[in-house]
Amino acid sequence: MATERTFSILKPDATKRNITGAVNAVIEKAGLRIVGQRRIQMSKAQAEKFYEVHNARPFFGELVEFMTSGPVVVQVLEGENAIAKYREVMGATNPAQAAEGTIRKTFSESVGENTVHGSDSAENAKIEIAQFFQDSDIAD
Ligand code: ADP
Ligand code: MG
Repeated sequence: MATERTFSILKPDATKRNITGAVNAVIEKAGLRIVGQRRIQMSKAQAEKFYEVHNARPFFGELVEFMTSGPVVVQVLEGENAIAKYREVMGATNPAQAAEGTIRKTFSESVGENTVHGSDSAENAKIEIAQFFQDSDIAD
């Protein structure tokens, strides 16, 4: 296994409920290191671009609306097998189906407002990190 980087977002339901520190504690306890982090207000254009792959899905409008409804925390996480590891730590997309101890099981209230995003492949991790971070904003 190699050291990898993945892209994470703490979504508006997390900033709204002031639980970003609690989520970060789960991330760090899982052995992932937060090597880049910034709190931003995503624009509609940024959200549409980020979730472009879902633009034909019925929930796309709702998703963009939600992701721009308040601040988010964009992050770069680093660790062994970070991409798959973080997907595991996040839990299933629908919190009702997420395993005990996962972020979504612990904190999320619905399939839409599900607290966190994590890249699903090495290729997407690279693209997603590049959308929000410059190399000089990441330090390990
Ligand atoms: P994941 O974030 O687990 O990779 P997807 O890539 O399938 O999940 O979906 C992207 C995001 O779109 C989800 O995290 C969630 O916020 C939203 N979403 C997915 N499915 C639904 C749905 N059925 N209704 C509303 N929002 C959804
Ligand atoms: Mg996805």
